[in-house]
Amino acid sequence: MSADHGDGALAARVRRAETLLEERGVVDGAELDAILDRYLATGSPANGARVVARAWTDAGFRDRLLADANAAVTELGFRAGGLQPTLLRAVANTAEVHNVVVCTLCSCYPIALLGPSPSWYKSEAYRSRVVRDPRSVLAEFGLTLPDTVRVEVWDASAETRYLVVPRRPDGTDHLDDDKLAALVTRNGLIGTAAV
Ligand code: FE
Repeated sequence: MSADHGDGALAARVRRAETLLEERGVVDGAELDAILDRYLATGSPANGARVVARAWTDAGFRDRLLADANAAVTELGFRAGGLQPTLLRAVANTAEVHNVVVCTLCSCYPIALLGPSPSWYKSEAYRSRVVRDPRSVLAEFGLTLPDTVRVEVWDASAETRYLVVPRRPDGTDHLDDDKLAALVTRNGLIGTAAV
């Protein structure tokens, strides 16, 4: 596993940096804790769901999201990166393509928008199998895709993280952004569920 990958490894590096900075009197430990706590407390799949709901109701936002997700999510008050800058890419499901995200090396994940990653996302089984046989893995999650749909697997890294924009369900034309956001699940944002 690369030392640059994974939030556990990152946390360890942050701790070491924090100790050094405190020893040298550069930063107050309490201040740094407050920054970390804010980041961990505000990261939630509800954030990603809001981004998706906006993309469903605002075609201009959807275009901006797919072109430059880092910039687009700031329109809703979110920041994609944590303590270091990361490139966020939004990938949209269509009638032809279904997207699913993995980190084959460890567990890179857009925590600010999705919260802490589920344990299965970090499991060796998911990381290795979803690349080789995504359809079987998705079927185990209860998502069976027609053969006409191509499955695109995106490998996240410390530098680049992904957010799936599910297809808007039929019969939701009358719903506002809040109600639409409530339909979006964490697994939908990873690509292991339809929505
Ligand atoms: Fe990783």
